[in-house]
Amino acid sequence: MTAASTTSSRPFVYPRPDAPLHCGSVSLEKLAREYGTPLYVYSADQILERLALFQAAFADRPHLVCYAVKANSALAILKLLAERGAGFDIVSGGELERVLAAAPEAAARVVFSGVGKTAAEIDLALRAGILAFNVESQGELALLASRAAKLRIRARFAIRVNPDVFAETHPYISTGLHEHKFGVSIATALAMYKSVAKSKWLEAHGVSVHIGSQIASAAPFGQAVERVHSLVRRLARAGIEIRTIDAGGGLGIDYHTPLPTNPDGAAFDPARRVHAYAKALNAALDGFEGQLLIEPGRFLVAQAGALLTRVLNVKRNGKKTFVITDAAMNDLIRPALYQAHHEIVPVRSGKTRAPKPRIVDIVGPVCETGDFFARSRPLAPVEPGDLLALLDAGAYGMAQSSNYNSRPRPAEVLVEGKTARLIRRRETIADLLAPEVS
Ligand SMILES: *Cc1c(COP(=O)(O)O)cnc(C)c1O
Repeated sequence: MTAASTTSSRPFVYPRPDAPLHCGSVSLEKLAREYGTPLYVYSADQILERLALFQAAFADRPHLVCYAVKANSALAILKLLAERGAGFDIVSGGELERVLAAAPEAAARVVFSGVGKTAAEIDLALRAGILAFNVESQGELALLASRAAKLRIRARFAIRVNPDVFAETHPYISTGLHEHKFGVSIATALAMYKSVAKSKWLEAHGVSVHIGSQIASAAPFGQAVERVHSLVRRLARAGIEIRTIDAGGGLGIDYHTPLPTNPDGAAFDPARRVHAYAKALNAALDGFEGQLLIEPGRFLVAQAGALLTRVLNVKRNGKKTFVITDAAMNDLIRPALYQAHHEIVPVRSGKTRAPKPRIVDIVGPVCETGDFFARSRPLAPVEPGDLLALLDAGAYGMAQSSNYNSRPRPAEVLVEGKTARLIRRRETIADLLAPEVS
């Protein structure tokens, strides 16, 4: 597999107009028969292809790609990425436990972000020997110092600065302005580094930043890293040597790219986007000789995943047609939570049947009006029993799923080359009831 020849491809394709949708060379009809629906299907090849794009783009400087575990924390995906040298960005003790379970050797490549770490989580991470804590407040730095002293383990830390850079994205996933809860101002960070410069148990290792998620343009990343780099230079003048700059994650994908029948015909070019991102970061880092960390989540896994669902019913209410699926907002909450768009395609392309689309709402069975995947969307006519695929669902899909309405969560399948394997079995009602007493 060479990155150059395959990066514009998408993993979900109709190999022929009359064939069902495939993930690589595996038929989604076959997967639905074997594992049932709703079902998350991921392409391992695509995830590795995306990782390789970042690794190639920063090949000229010391760097580490720390996959943001919260985007999709499946053990099999963590293991896959760890085997190719990735590190991890975690935001909880639970995510650290996942990394330790999937790839214990990767503990030294973990950075720990998040605005509210508990003493127990800090202890766990200190004992695991993670690379660095991304500290988000004065209070947290004091807590880290006291836990490190107590355990007699030196803690490497980075302070997450809030660069006050505006990035065009959904307000719920924008994080880099002073009005947001994340990080501290550059002036505060400077004072914090100085205040612990002589600490026996704290080691100033890096400076980190993360300005938000689903950001399309490269410019705000460059601006944020420029401000971080200038802080690093001021720290150097004060005798504080910083070894890593962590540029965070947030590079966005295009959720509106219609599925091409020609796999090379995609309008969205991930290689170009990574190239522009790397160019902006490299310009901002000119003269910095330490290690660059980046924390991509969505960009690595979103387009590698689809949620496969079966049509339960088609009903008309007045002028509206509702396609009711066996997947619901508890399985994929992005449309309800962020008004997010997902391309939805029939697994049978319909090319050999009536091709004229109808305008429909695609909804789940959960008792909430907000339980929809698409509103007023053209869709080729479907019948109960037909399969649909919600594309670009690999990030913040299963990771944000719940048991709302006492619905067991879907199974997950990973496609690697020509083979597919179950990486998480479907939950049972017994799983749901297990922690409870009546
Ligand atoms: C969520 C998050 C990321 C990943 O964001 P993506 O948009 O998925 O790339 C990276 N770093 C931090 C600190 C985060 O909170």
